[in-house]
Parts: sequence; C-alpha cells; structure tokens
Amino acid sequence: MSAADYAGRVSFSHPGRDGRNPARRSPADRSVLLWPVLLLFALAGCIPSPSQPRRGWRPPAESPERFRQCVAALRADGAQVDALPDRRFDNGCSATSAVKLVAIGIPVTNLGAVKCGLALPFVRWVRQDVPAAAQRWLGSDVVRIESFGSFACRPVNNQAGNRLSEHGRANAVDIAAFRLRDGRRISVKDGWNGPDQQVRGFLRTLHRGACGRFPIVLGPDANALHHDHFHFDMGSGPYCR
Ligand SMILES: [Zn+2]
Repeated sequence: MSAADYAGRVSFSHPGRDGRNPARRSPADRSVLLWPVLLLFALAGCIPSPSQPRRGWRPPAESPERFRQCVAALRADGAQVDALPDRRFDNGCSATSAVKLVAIGIPVTNLGAVKCGLALPFVRWVRQDVPAAAQRWLGSDVVRIESFGSFACRPVNNQAGNRLSEHGRANAVDIAAFRLRDGRRISVKDGWNGPDQQVRGFLRTLHRGACGRFPIVLGPDANALHHDHFHFDMGSGPYCR
C-alpha cells in the first residue's frame, strides 16, 4: 500500500495553506518578511504555541495487544473497521496501530488511516455528539460528514523545518462540514461566524463536545489556518480553542 492509500483521497498538502507559503515570495521579500513570518508560524498552526507543555512528551507505548484491545473497543461501539498493517515512511511519517473506518454510523468523506487511539473518541463524537447536536439545534439528522483528511505527511503548518504534524502519524483529523437530511450543508467556514444562530450553536456544541474527547481541538477561533475546519488530535493537551 502506498502513502497515498493511507491518506484516502485527500492531498498531502493541508488545504488553504499555499497562499501563505513564504517560499513563493522573492528572496528580497523573504528577508523583509522573515520575522513577521516566523511570528505568524509561531502563533498559528495545527498545534498550540511552543509555550504549551509538549516538550519531553513521548507517544504512549504501542503494542499489538493494546492495538487489539482498541480495535475490539471500536467494534464494541458498533464501528466497522479494518485494522491496517503498520507503515513507516522514509521521511519520518508513520501510520502505526491504525485503522480504516469502514462504517461508523455516519459516512465521513476523505478519511485515510486513523490511529486507533484517535479513532475511538472520534467514533464516539460522530455517533453520539453529532446526531444529538443536529437534533437539538437544527431539527435534522447529519447524513454525511466532510473531512479534510487524517493522514498527511507534512510538517506543522506545512512549513519546512517544523516538526512533524500529528497528521504525519495519522493521529489527527480535520472536519470541514456536515450535510443534513433536509439538504442543508453546514460548513465550519461559513457557519462558525455566520448569521444563523442555530448553526452557530450547532458548531459550537460540537467543538465543545470534542474538547471533552480529544486532548487538542482547534477551530476558527484558534487561528486563521483553522477558519474552515475543526482539527482534533491526540497530542499532549489539553488545548481547546
Ligand atoms: Zn489538522
């Protein structure tokens, strides 16, 4: 299986980043903009700022036994999943103890490999939080969730030299929009600060619920890079913004 298979249909590039890539500027522009750019990338991104307590953190030990228990727990929750063989790529990316989510109650587009430890809270968020919030705020059901993907082999903020994103370990998922049974499409991009109070309540309820399930949750209030999606990951937290 290639890296692309692990990424599903999503591109390895994080969406919406190219316009901010300083590498596209001329060398003269780059030198003038170096410090503002460094500041931007220090403040913005798929992670909390470096002041967050991540130093010294190591991923929890993985073992075949833990993985087997995690897959069993997913199946006990009603999820249909395929266990994936461990993959480690030359550039440091990996997808170990990962699963493919085949059926988890609501179809989620664009998902590739997902680390089992992330899949467990994600499946519960999808199966419990999403239907409850949709009924409460919108009086409808969510029939499809649109994601920007899970596995993506890239550094944090897509910036060369940065450390590996949790996406590079299949340990993060980006959620962009929800399709309702009544035909409406609720997107983070348009709805988070949109005019519809019910939509705003729906999205904020889901964001808050995610903060109870994932160590790291980022949305439009975190920074401009997350104006159009929620980012959930299993890094060292808690960080909820
Ligand atoms: Zn992300």
